[in-house]
Amino acid sequence: MYEKESLTHQSKKIPLCTKCGVKPSVYFRPYSGERLCKSCFIDSIEFRVERTISRFDMFKFNSRIAVAVSGGKDSLNLLRILWRLEEKYPKAELIVASVDEGIKDYRNEALKFVKESCKQYDIELQVLSFKELYGLTLDEIVVKTMNKELTPCSYCGVLRRRALNQIAKRIDADVIATAHNLDDIAQTALLNLIRGDLNRFSTVYPVSTRIQGFVRKVKPYCEIPERESAMLAYLTEIKFQSIPCPYSESAMRNDIRRFLNKMESKRPGTMFTIYKTSLNLISAKVGKEEEKIRLCEICGEPSQTKICRTCELLKEIKKR
Ligand code: SF4
Ligand code: ZN
Ligand code: ZN
Repeated sequence: MYEKESLTHQSKKIPLCTKCGVKPSVYFRPYSGERLCKSCFIDSIEFRVERTISRFDMFKFNSRIAVAVSGGKDSLNLLRILWRLEEKYPKAELIVASVDEGIKDYRNEALKFVKESCKQYDIELQVLSFKELYGLTLDEIVVKTMNKELTPCSYCGVLRRRALNQIAKRIDADVIATAHNLDDIAQTALLNLIRGDLNRFSTVYPVSTRIQGFVRKVKPYCEIPERESAMLAYLTEIKFQSIPCPYSESAMRNDIRRFLNKMESKRPGTMFTIYKTSLNLISAKVGKEEEKIRLCEICGEPSQTKICRTCELLKEIKKR
């Protein structure tokens, strides 16, 4: 009797979901004041991704979509959402594209989660490794470039972008969907402002500029805060790689992450404001106009300069 009473008392203390008004809430959203139950929370994330897709016209009804999946929570959440949405668009096709950079005890673990999900959803998986494409793993590149100014992430970022584009071209995809979340976007916007890199500032836009030779990239997950992504993975019981990459030490991004997290907890909605302001700052042309581009003199891939950034870095790595 006593136990029953105390349980009733406890359950009374949990506020009800502000959306359905029926179930107990499991999540409080500080920037909107909503309290959501499990199913309303999951629905709200899926709704937001779907809204982003349609707002930025990311896919056509019959798009062949390469989903970049690393094995972390964001990309596996996005894959699950796109797989559910695919039911409404039977002519669209999802293919998972994963890059194996060659990071011992990290990427091989993450790829196991990717393989499991592909099996569960019955989706084709295409993996391309740095070793296969460049003849070196990231671990080997790190050893060769020790004491250089650039961090492992600087090499990895450029080489991974090329690898992803190669997979997408190989499978004849119309578009590559990546799982950058709201925190990633806000951090990148601030990083580029601080570095004074206005050319790269436009990379925060949810749809990439059309450039011949590059498969168009879209970010359907860009309005999902990191904290909500973690909650979604927990509620949907997704298994993902949770240990950080051993090279994720890019000092400036970490400083910005800490600063933004502090701002967000003091002033909820800060990251959304940065995101929306960035969209307003970026020219309306982004994502709509085809950019003129030349071909790299070494690899023949499209580039804005005579020698593309990938070839520049590879030259530098192999010199050592
Ligand atoms: Fe590559 Fe850096 Fe990401 Fe590690 S943290 S996978 S090195 S970009
Ligand atoms: Zn509810
Ligand atoms: Zn090149």
